[in-house]
Amino acid sequence: MKSSLYLDYAATTPVDPLVAEKMLSCLTSQGLYGNPASQHDYGYAAAQAITQAAQQVASLIHAAPQEIIWTSGATEANNLALKGIAEFYAYKGKHIITSRIEHKSVLDVCRYLEKQGYQVSYLSPSANGLIDPQDVAAAMRPDTILVSIMHVNNEIGVIQDIAAISKIVKQHHCLFHVDAAQSAGKIVVDVDALGIDLMSLSGHKVYGPKGIGALFVRQKPPIKLVPQMQGGSQQHGLRAGTLPTHQIVGMGEAFAIAESRLLSDSEWVTQLRSKLLASLEDIPGLNLVTPLQRAIPHILNLSFTAIHSEALLYGLRNIALSSGSACDSALMEPSYVLKAIGLMNTSIRGAIRISLGRYTTVAEIDYFSQRLKQEVARLRAISPLWNTHEV
Ligand code: PMP
Repeated sequence: MKSSLYLDYAATTPVDPLVAEKMLSCLTSQGLYGNPASQHDYGYAAAQAITQAAQQVASLIHAAPQEIIWTSGATEANNLALKGIAEFYAYKGKHIITSRIEHKSVLDVCRYLEKQGYQVSYLSPSANGLIDPQDVAAAMRPDTILVSIMHVNNEIGVIQDIAAISKIVKQHHCLFHVDAAQSAGKIVVDVDALGIDLMSLSGHKVYGPKGIGALFVRQKPPIKLVPQMQGGSQQHGLRAGTLPTHQIVGMGEAFAIAESRLLSDSEWVTQLRSKLLASLEDIPGLNLVTPLQRAIPHILNLSFTAIHSEALLYGLRNIALSSGSACDSALMEPSYVLKAIGLMNTSIRGAIRISLGRYTTVAEIDYFSQRLKQEVARLRAISPLWNTHEV
C-alpha cells in the first residue's frame, strides 16, 4: 500500500493517459498546432479536431455539437450563463432564482448581479439538501427571467430533481440553467429529457485537463446571451479568444471515455462506497451528511461528533481529503452548504468529504477506513468533549 492516497476526486481528477496522449498530439510541430481560426490546412486540421471534440461532449449530454461553447471551465461557463442571460433579457425582467447551496461561481455572480440592480431569490434546501420544486414555483414572479439550480452538489453529492424543477420553470416561460460540473460523466445527463436550456461543464472533473469547460446553450428555440469576453469573432462572437486545441481535444476525449464507462465507473464506485460505509459502521458518533438514496456514489460527506475536521485531516495528511469544497477550504469558514441544510455548527466542524473515482481501489478503501478509525479513536481519547460527553 503506497503511503499517500487520493480521495479528493470531486476537487479534481487526474488526466486519463489516453486523454494526455491525445492532447500531446495537438502541441508539437508534428501535431495539430495550427490556430483553429486560420484559413489554411493547419487551421482546418485543428478546427476539425475541435468539431470532433464538440461532438464528443455533446454526445454525453444528448445535445448537438453546435450547442457547445468552449470556456476556461465551469466557473466561466456559470459566469457567461448568468451574466449573459441577465444582461440580454433585462428588458423582460430582473429577477433570478437560485439556491443557497450553489457553487461560489454561481453565488458570487448572483451577488454581483444584485449590485447591478437585479434581484435574486436564494432557495433553502431541505435537511437532505434537496430543493423542493414547489419552492421554485412559489418564488416565481412576473419579472423572473432565469432559474439556476445545480445538478449535483459538490460537497454532499445530492442530486436535484432537475426534471421536476424544469417543469415549473417552463410553466412560467423562464430559462433554466444547470451547473452540471459534478454530474456529467457520473450519472446520465440528458438536456432534452431534463428540460435544460443552459448547462455548465468542466473538463477536469471528468479525467480531462484543467482550464477547459463548456456552456451548453440550447439552439431550439434559440437562446441569446450577451458575450462576457470581447476581442474576436470566435464561437460566433459569444466567447472571443483563440481556441486551445489541446485542451478542447482533451475534454472531448475525456467525455467520450466517460460516456463509454458511465455504467461501469458508477457500479465500481457504488461498490466501493458500500464497502467503505460497512467498514465504518461501528465508529461511534458518526453522522452521515450525504443522503445516500439521493446522491451520487462518488461523494460521501461524514461528520464525527466531538472531532474537529481540521485535526482529523491533519492526522490523515498523507490522504487527500477535504473538509468541504477545495475552493472554500482555504477560507477556513464553516461550510455554507452544510449550514444551509441545517447542520449544527458542531457537526459542520466535524465534517469531511471523501470523494471516490475511477482509479480508487479496494485496497485503498481498506487502508483508508483503518486509518480513519485509528485517527478518530486517537482524537477522541484526547478530546475533553468526548470524554465528558458534553456533545
Ligand atoms: N461548479 C461546481 C459544482 C464545481 O464543483 C466546480 C469545481 N469545484 C465548479 C463549478 C467550477 O469548475 P471549474 O474548476 O471548471 O471552474
